[in-house]
Amino acid sequence: MSLTNRILVAMVAGILLGSLFNIMLGSAALGDSYRMVVSDWLVNGVFDVIGRIFIASLKLLVVPLVLVSLICGSSALGDSARMGPIALKTIAFYLATTGLAITVALLAAVAIGPGSGVELAGEADFVVAPAPPLADVLVGIVPSNPIQAMAEGNMLQIIVFALLFGYAISHAGESGRRIASFFSDTEAVIMKMVLILMTLAPYGVFALLAKLFAEMGIGAIMDLAAYFFTVLAVLIFHGLVNYSLLLKVLAGVSPRMMLNKMRPVWAFAFSTASSGATLPVTMRTVEHRLGVHNSVAGFTVPLGATINMDGTAIMQGVATVFIAQVYGVELSFAAYLTVILTATLASVGTAGVPGVGLITLALVLEQAGLPVEGVALIIGVDRLLDMVRTMVNVTGDATAAVIVGRSENQLDEAVFNDPRADLESNRE
Ligand code: ASP
Repeated sequence: MSLTNRILVAMVAGILLGSLFNIMLGSAALGDSYRMVVSDWLVNGVFDVIGRIFIASLKLLVVPLVLVSLICGSSALGDSARMGPIALKTIAFYLATTGLAITVALLAAVAIGPGSGVELAGEADFVVAPAPPLADVLVGIVPSNPIQAMAEGNMLQIIVFALLFGYAISHAGESGRRIASFFSDTEAVIMKMVLILMTLAPYGVFALLAKLFAEMGIGAIMDLAAYFFTVLAVLIFHGLVNYSLLLKVLAGVSPRMMLNKMRPVWAFAFSTASSGATLPVTMRTVEHRLGVHNSVAGFTVPLGATINMDGTAIMQGVATVFIAQVYGVELSFAAYLTVILTATLASVGTAGVPGVGLITLALVLEQAGLPVEGVALIIGVDRLLDMVRTMVNVTGDATAAVIVGRSENQLDEAVFNDPRADLESNRE
């Protein structure tokens, strides 16, 4: 079986087994000794350990991969004056698609009205963390100590350092060329590490999903069905229809080919609910399977995993309308515009780790004049939506890489159109 299929089988098996455990643990008929085996030994024992090792092994690659790949990319571009346009196009694409995502989400939520008829059940409770001042955010992008930035995994600071380093390499003559070849060899080695870890993914994905579904209160979905399915529908629409149209119109490439090659990335995104942890797999797929040169992919993908969260913005759009409806607040046209603007910015500020979208939602609610405690209403179903919105988030990053790559002549269409490209990662 190909690796992609093995990962997909592991996903389904993990979901099924986890759901079975969930039913068993919820049943009073389960004896104490069986309960201990299922809950303590399997779910919180073996599955928990394998799942955590899997996530840690993905995360361990993120900093070296982003640093090295971006240094390679920017050193290749350094003297061609293309760095600025690539950065501008990428950022403009990210902001525009996030704006589009949230607009669709608001329209759908207003049309469907997921919150009408929902009763407020008791006092909701949610405490908001204060947002840092904008000046600090801006200053914080430039690292005062690159080693510290790497130790803390501060992605934007690493990006700034790597861009500068790569640019300097391209202007440092013979010494620069020697260093550049060192980094390009290192990149090949790290990409190999990604591949080795990907072959272990079926076990990791299985363990993560079995544990998650064993613990997830699926029942909460029924109480919030209208909200849950509205978010889900918009996520699917944006992920499949909007990105496909953009790929077709702006890059003239086959969306079907792209979506097909994204399947393993989706499995990682779904099971980890983290664009950050999925980043090594997204990078490998974008460069080796979709054929985007690392001068573009090395910048676009890590930046996207940090600031581009269309799926998160969609959840925030629907959640805002939902909460307004539950609290009986009428949103004005200006309030909708505020939501579009703040949700776009909030998604920039959302880190690519599980559940942060819910925290930045508080910011959006505050700006729209809604009670922030409303966040508590939707916490119950957020994990599952987080898994799906992370899939959309990483698809947005890969789509941007293909479109910007194509516009910069940095897309190898032969690789893109070859269903068996990067055979190694898809070995029979
Ligand atoms: N889990 C999301 C991601 O990593 C962020 C969020 O919406 O919470 O992309």
